[in-house]
Amino acid sequence: MGTGAPMTETADHPLTLFNSLTRSAEPFVPVHADEARVYSCGPTVYNYPHIGNMRAYVFADTLGRVLTWKGYDLTHVINITDVGHLTDDADAGEDKMEKMAAAKAQSIWDIARHYTEAYWADVKALNIRQPAKWTIATDYIDEMLEFAKQIAPKHCYELDSGLYFDVSTVADYGRLARAVTEEGPENEHARIEAVDGKRNAADFAIWRKTPVGEKRQMEWDSPWGKGAPGWHLECSVMSGKVLGFPFDIHTGGIDHREIHHPNEIAQNQAFCECGALSDAANSGANVWMHNNFLVERSGKMSKSSGEFLRLQLLIDKGYHPLAYRMLCLQAHYRSELEFSWEGLGAALVRLKRLLGSARNLLELVTDGATLDSVRATVTHQKLTPLVDKFDAALSDDLNTAVALTVLEEAVAVKKVDQEQKASLVGAMLSALGLPLVPREEFRIRPKGAVVEESEIEDAMERRKAARAEKDFAASDAIRDELAAKGVEVMDGDPLGWEWRLS
Ligand code: AMP
Ligand code: ZN
Repeated sequence: MGTGAPMTETADHPLTLFNSLTRSAEPFVPVHADEARVYSCGPTVYNYPHIGNMRAYVFADTLGRVLTWKGYDLTHVINITDVGHLTDDADAGEDKMEKMAAAKAQSIWDIARHYTEAYWADVKALNIRQPAKWTIATDYIDEMLEFAKQIAPKHCYELDSGLYFDVSTVADYGRLARAVTEEGPENEHARIEAVDGKRNAADFAIWRKTPVGEKRQMEWDSPWGKGAPGWHLECSVMSGKVLGFPFDIHTGGIDHREIHHPNEIAQNQAFCECGALSDAANSGANVWMHNNFLVERSGKMSKSSGEFLRLQLLIDKGYHPLAYRMLCLQAHYRSELEFSWEGLGAALVRLKRLLGSARNLLELVTDGATLDSVRATVTHQKLTPLVDKFDAALSDDLNTAVALTVLEEAVAVKKVDQEQKASLVGAMLSALGLPLVPREEFRIRPKGAVVEESEIEDAMERRKAARAEKDFAASDAIRDELAAKGVEVMDGDPLGWEWRLS
């Protein structure tokens, strides 16, 4: 671990993480010794998550697993936004939840429950660990009001539409985003819709009043009238309340670096009565980490255009969901990742090959191991350099792409103590969040496939019998019959897969 690691003869690789606030890789130094407290911005549950959204949680989960691997006692919090996120991140437009509820003529609470459950199903399918706490925004309205009341006198002003945060009242406003705009041409705040009476273009609503004569499905009393909290307020309150300011790491997708997180930071500075951001702790969290986007060839991934890339669509097409996790792990989280079906297919083959080779170790694998526990049990000279290489890769700002290749090397090592090898491979799989799923689970029947699995197995048995009797005409006929139903017979597959749906 980063602090107090035991003395070993092997090299120590301090965990280094890229901090978006300073735009540099920094050694991780926990706020509380041996602990890691992490907050991840969660989904807005007005629709199904697309697989781009899920990349943010595969990343956050991998970060958590690496912290566990390094020996830190992890407290991870992910929120569920069920109120307050407008159709434009910069506080313009309608509440996404209200809009969907109106379109579907359903209650917001039902909408929120349905899409939260859909999101949790994807979390499970991608082997994302349960965080210590899911904070639901509407459970924290009282705390949001307290927070807003505390910062309002010095930092906010009231307009007809709500209570606004004056960004000129805190030091270094927008530093997290400004560093980007120095690198690139676009200033996100230039496109923020003007609201009459706003003092600065970047000022944002922390409380949105319900317009006179209207009634919202979700609204609460406040000193500024009936209304609902702003999205940025929610995350400041839930992260600070559960983890305490300053906590260690705040994560989100790279879009949050532009508006949502700068606004959270401004509120945190106001709440903590903190100074400039030259001290990262003044932002509320020591490290701000952002995953880059999953993109489609045609551009930005969206929930409204083209084929909606939900995890379920991948499963419906016959891909095991963990193939998507594999696809994410093959890229660095800070690199843009282009989605393609060919890429997903290749990731699936690699995953099957990896797990197929590790399968003989199945009985021996232990989950949730740490670097220290691995070092205590894995002493064979063919394996210890791999422990080091794996640790070096993960410690280098989560270089999962390299860590995967080291895992494959470990699986391929011959003539070593099987128990030691199993401990190592099991720990590596768990650090990357790849469970040893049974081989049969990879045989997913695409939706609409015209053939039942039992029917395929029957045909395969008949074909085996024909071949045993050297009746090759019959065996070929069965193969053709299966091919006509979209089933490819895989003679001689090195992993022993007998057939697959093509
Ligand atoms: P939302 O539900 O819109 O609040 O988004 C949930 C998470 O997904 C946030 O952390 C976003 O930054 C992240 N996100 C949105 N689109 C993508 C994408 N295409 N690739 C990766 N992360 C994304
Ligand atoms: Zn957030």
